Amino acid sequence: MKSAETLSTRRLQELDAAHYLHPFTDHKSLGERGARIIERADGVYLWDSEGNRILDGMAGLWCVNVGYGRSELAEAAYKQMLELPYYNSFFQCAHPPAVKLAAEIAALAPAHMNRVFFTGSGSEANDTVLRMVRRYWDLKGQPGKKTIISRINAYHGSTVAGASLGGMLPMHEQGDLPIPGIVHIAQPYWYGEGGDMDPEEFGLWAARQLEAKIIELGEDQVAAFIAEPIQGAGGVIIPPASYWPEIKRILGKYDILLVVDEVICGFGRTGEWFGSQYYDLQPDLMPIAKGMTSGYLPMGGVIVADRVADTLIEHGGEFFHGYTYSGHPVAAAVALENLRILRDEGIVERVRTELAPCLQSKIARLAEHRLVGEVRGVGMLGAIELVRNKQTRERFPDKGSTGTLCRDLCVANGLVMRAVGDTLIMSPPLVISPAQIDELVDTAWKCLDLAALKLG
Ligand code: PLP
Repeated sequence: MKSAETLSTRRLQELDAAHYLHPFTDHKSLGERGARIIERADGVYLWDSEGNRILDGMAGLWCVNVGYGRSELAEAAYKQMLELPYYNSFFQCAHPPAVKLAAEIAALAPAHMNRVFFTGSGSEANDTVLRMVRRYWDLKGQPGKKTIISRINAYHGSTVAGASLGGMLPMHEQGDLPIPGIVHIAQPYWYGEGGDMDPEEFGLWAARQLEAKIIELGEDQVAAFIAEPIQGAGGVIIPPASYWPEIKRILGKYDILLVVDEVICGFGRTGEWFGSQYYDLQPDLMPIAKGMTSGYLPMGGVIVADRVADTLIEHGGEFFHGYTYSGHPVAAAVALENLRILRDEGIVERVRTELAPCLQSKIARLAEHRLVGEVRGVGMLGAIELVRNKQTRERFPDKGSTGTLCRDLCVANGLVMRAVGDTLIMSPPLVISPAQIDELVDTAWKCLDLAALKLG
């Protein structure tokens, strides 16, 4: 097969089912219905191989923050490939794009965070986190502090450490995870798990699960707590206002590191550069990826607070850790250009002042639909809870089937949203226009109507 050959959708689907092992996909169903082949994209729209235009309400996988088709990013990659397509940063080497990128990210991060370790992805970033926090406590003379506390239903990646730090039971069941030294507490998911408590009461309850776990394990055994500011893949779970202040109090009391996973929330999604700034957190480590390059090239990293970096540098000697593609020059050049676009076009500011208020007020209307129990959101993140009974929050039987039904109807009608169980979630590009937000909400309403008809 010649690389330039144009293949029909059917042929692509046949080859796909025969040869391509996809992430997070049931391959048997690929053989039956064939993958949707996405061929091109521009702005906030995708086009599939049948010519259908689809509004991408998920920005790919929460990553295409500046939208598709930005030629500046392609040009930055092309220029860097001609200049220096690859070199590493091992053994006291560096190159201009990675150095400049580290400095720019440090300038955007909270003031006490001035160093960045680069990785190829968010999962690698979280593997790096695990090694860094354990190394930190060894160097501090507290080698017992090894356990990391995470949350049930968290997502922190798919590598062995990433999936273990995550709290997704179906992932743990495949491959005997989590690895030792990682434990999970309740998530601050009021709508799903708050019972009779009001949100603030529940937020305090969920935060105090952390304190209970620290006491159970012994504070001299606990290295860190890891959490996203807003749990993304778990279903856009927005903690009640009481949650984060109480978590901060507990971590301070027991001297435990805070790892804030910014892989989704970072680079403008909440209307601040980082979700930590939105919630006024003081992280010790911040894993990043996705919006860092707007997904145009793979890249991740860990932003490290001075407290941790100084210990690693002053007392640690060589840190035996790194990836061939840590700080890859082409990815770094694209990330720099992506940051320039976000900054020069005032995209983060515009999210905060204009687009997030617009998205949130418009999606709030969906709560009037008879299938919708709650609509929630922060910045350019949103979630729609699908229920059988709005008053009692009773779910549909056969968990997940209504979410999947609505998601499939949305795609068939030109809108990508994701279903997490019976919660529809969205995370559109940060450059979506108010008119396109109307299109998103109108299509979502129409598909909820179609789903209600089917459900009877
Ligand atoms: N952390 C969070 C919060 C994520 O949402 C993801 C991916 O969705 C990851 C880590 C893993 O990132 P990657 O898929 O780049 O390995």
